[in-house]
Amino acid sequence: MTALIEIRDLAVTYGKGHAAVNAVKNVSLDVQQGESYGLVGESGSGKSTVLRAICGLASISGGEVRINGVPLKTPRDPAFYRQVQMVFQDPYGSIHPRHTIDRVLSEPLAIHGFSDAEARIEKALEDVGLGKGFRFRYPHQLSGGQRQRVAIARALILEPEILLLDEPTSALDASIQAEVLNLLDALRAEKGLTYLLVSHDLAVVAHMCERLLVMQHGACVEELPREALQSRAATQRYTQDLLVASEGFKAP
Ligand code: ADP
Ligand code: MG
Repeated sequence: MTALIEIRDLAVTYGKGHAAVNAVKNVSLDVQQGESYGLVGESGSGKSTVLRAICGLASISGGEVRINGVPLKTPRDPAFYRQVQMVFQDPYGSIHPRHTIDRVLSEPLAIHGFSDAEARIEKALEDVGLGKGFRFRYPHQLSGGQRQRVAIARALILEPEILLLDEPTSALDASIQAEVLNLLDALRAEKGLTYLLVSHDLAVVAHMCERLLVMQHGACVEELPREALQSRAATQRYTQDLLVASEGFKAP
């Protein structure tokens, strides 16, 4: 069976000459349809760059990415964005501060030529646990957790198959983090979504993902099933250090 997301020897270099940064080197992974796959590693290890390369925010310098067996087109076409959507860490930065939630959610629908915006916006708000009452509010009238729910609603409104989640709860208070992670879990089950989720937090990845790739300095360290984290059966020293460093790490 072809994996839904296939990444082969991906390389991303930012800048040129002396200023060049090899942010991602020879990263390969497969994500199966319906799976949640985690990328974990310390800050600067290249996790976000992998997601940015998939969705066209960073250019691919080597290797290949295929979605459903089809190599990515550059630039990505509208069909790609109907299939793949991204959720960023910072809901403050990713939602326009002077646009109502209605406008934030209307824009992708208008761009992709959907005519049933009204019904889709109401459904999307309901899906993320925000009622219709939020529709004409502004981002500053929402809490951080509510704003991240809006970002998730915006990502889901085109009914994509794949969500690329970049530290989706890292900017939130611990209690709110769990709520948003549980929401993402429920949405994946309900809609049959496939996740590629980035986190520096092993507990988040252990809770959310069936398999994970540990990254360091832009490269793969090892791929593990969730159970290996829970039983602390990492084979590589770097992963063992990460486990020790994540004090309070608890298997769910
Ligand atoms: P992570 O998400 O794991 O923290 P990133 O993918 O953001 O890591 O960054 C990987 C490396 O690429 C880091 O060394 C970072 O400084 C560098 N980097 C990220 N974005 C850029 C950019 N736009 N220009 C130059 N270097 C960058
Ligand atoms: Mg990052």
